[in-house]
Amino acid sequence: MIRNREELEKQRLEVREWVEKVAIPNEDRVAELNEVPEDIVKDMQARGYFAWAIPEAYGGLGLTTEELVLMAFELSYCSVAYRARVGSNTGIGSESLIVDGTEEQKQKYLPRLASGEIVGCFALTEREAGSEATALKTTAIRKGDHYILNGSKAFITNAPISDLFTVFARTDPDDDSHRSISAFLVDLDTPGLSVGPAYKMMGQSGSPVSEVYFKDCEIPASCLLGNEEGVGFRTAMKALNKQRIHLSALSTGPAMRMLDDAAKHAQERKQFGQPIGDFQLIQAMIADSHVDIAAARTLILDTARKRDEGLDITLEASMCKYFATEMCGRIADHAVQIFGGSGYVADYSNIERFYRDVRLFRLYEGTSQIHQLNIARRTFDKIAKTGSVRL
Ligand SMILES: Cc1cc2nc3c(=O)[nH]c(=O)nc-3n(C[C@H](O)[C@H](O)[C@H](O)COP(=O)(O)OP(=O)(O)OC[C@H]3O[C@@H](n4cnc5c(N)ncnc54)[C@H](O)[C@@H]3O)c2cc1C
Repeated sequence: MIRNREELEKQRLEVREWVEKVAIPNEDRVAELNEVPEDIVKDMQARGYFAWAIPEAYGGLGLTTEELVLMAFELSYCSVAYRARVGSNTGIGSESLIVDGTEEQKQKYLPRLASGEIVGCFALTEREAGSEATALKTTAIRKGDHYILNGSKAFITNAPISDLFTVFARTDPDDDSHRSISAFLVDLDTPGLSVGPAYKMMGQSGSPVSEVYFKDCEIPASCLLGNEEGVGFRTAMKALNKQRIHLSALSTGPAMRMLDDAAKHAQERKQFGQPIGDFQLIQAMIADSHVDIAAARTLILDTARKRDEGLDITLEASMCKYFATEMCGRIADHAVQIFGGSGYVADYSNIERFYRDVRLFRLYEGTSQIHQLNIARRTFDKIAKTGSVRL
């Protein structure tokens, strides 16, 4: 749902201009520094990028899912590091709090997440609990008016720069089902919480990811998200449902950028006396890429609108995540092919960086295989209930 089309269009074009004038010219600097420099972070804060999906009552812009997706298409047209810097505050790092936090918890954290004053992250995965997230082992044992956390989390985006950790832990260690998982809001300065060094990764330079450790980490009972035990996994799934639509949009921006760059290159680069774009085998890759992007955009926007209407979009969110991230991978591969050797060599193009950066999309927030399983299961369910996948 778009609340005010004219206003949104103004904001969308402002982001487009910022991406072209600030983000793209600084991409090499971000990659070299391996961080988004402070001046650019401050600029993004001032422009309200951290506030997009946070409700207006808590200092955010309260964008609907459709509006968020339209903005995400724009902000992700540049190096992934920029949107990863703001993306946990206006996505996975605040969403659990938005959907299930108490009023007091929202008042305490959301305004600061919206302004970008603090950074939030989402700590679900553990080394032994990846796709099988319900196998997590971190415990949170109640002692009077406190909980004691023990365990560790792995692969947590923005952990090295986070102030607020949404941590999923088991409150009843004798119950290994999802019903004993609870969510907690843990501040960085809590004794017993420590953060590992940022990983050395295949791509996404400038987006720090690391482990998080809890050793007899004592937190007040008021840190229990929503003040309710045993519903943490449900909270995580609610947050991820929205995030998967968001991530799908964030996978479409890089795809558009790579297609634009590859199409321009195809028209400029000459071999055999003519632009390579005149060759039909190159045209086939351009055409397939464009169709892929158009299909992803349509699916994502349709799903976002359904979510805004309050419909259950669990199946569609999985479809978006699976299709858009695989689509982006296909386009990265075509782009390298169209650029030839220059697509492989960093001195000649940005394409090799995008190729490495976007590989992650198919792994986190549910791997492609996990989404395929989810889509198949829900398809069988739908057919069992209604006899058909027809709308
Ligand atoms: C850079 C990065 C950032 C991340 N950020 C976060 C974050 O901020 N917060 C967070 O909580 N997590 C985060 N993650 C974790 C991410 O969500 C997990 O890596 C992902 O869920 C996969 O888990 P895994 O790595 O343990 O792989 P595994 O679960 O071990 O999977 C390995 C392979 O087996 C396949 N597989 C597993 N089960 C099945 C099955 N049933 N059927 C078929 N195939 C199967 C998978 O598809 C995959 O191909 C991040 C990961 C990375 C790499």
